Amino acid sequence: MKQVMKVDLLCNTCNEETPHTITYNDNIIEQIVCDCCHYGIVVDVEKIKQNAGTDLVKRVVTKPARMTEEIKKDLGLFLKSMPVRILSKPYRMMTEHKKGHEE
Ligand SMILES: [Zn+2]
Repeated sequence: MKQVMKVDLLCNTCNEETPHTITYNDNIIEQIVCDCCHYGIVVDVEKIKQNAGTDLVKRVVTKPARMTEEIKKDLGLFLKSMPVRILSKPYRMMTEHKKGHEE
């Protein structure tokens, strides 16, 4: 099930805080797109699981019950700190994304 959330985040391209659309697929973060410049990233959850066991990632990948300032801060950090290799070009990963591919 897909759900979207609107959050103001710092966009690296716009260089200011802009509205972002975050898409969650089965409560796992899938993509983050800036509403202004439409620069977006698709999150490769498989690689996140492999590469990062940090609390930040754990907090960010799962859809929160409601968006708090703390989560917004985490998302901003996440966007800035994630290595490029775990972010993929839009759309390709979405079609390749398979469910139930744990471990
Ligand atoms: Zn932007």
